[in-house]
Amino acid sequence: MKLKDLLKFIEIEDKRLRKYYGSYPDEEKRILARTVKLTEELGELCNDVLAHNSLQRKQKLDELDKENIQEEFADVLITTLLLANVMSVDIEKALERKIEKINKRYDLGK
Ligand SMILES: [Mg+2]
Repeated sequence: MKLKDLLKFIEIEDKRLRKYYGSYPDEEKRILARTVKLTEELGELCNDVLAHNSLQRKQKLDELDKENIQEEFADVLITTLLLANVMSVDIEKALERKIEKINKRYDLGK
């Protein structure tokens, strides 16, 4: 999947979520809701990382779906992009700038 395809999906998902949750008096509530949702998804990823390393109690390990961690990585990425979208962050430019900064800092990318 290309970044442009992912960002197109984010636009469509954003419209679906706005329709589902309705309008807010301002965007602050939507930003807050998406920030909390990102924390929820990050917690789910952390749970699966702990389980992946057998650092959960036995009952949780017994119930573990080993394929679920892939879904949690995707959830974190999608919720991050939805938050960036509602905050009008151009994530493609942000990534380009950040990668360039890292490349310069560590003399990479040559
Ligand atoms: Mg999740």
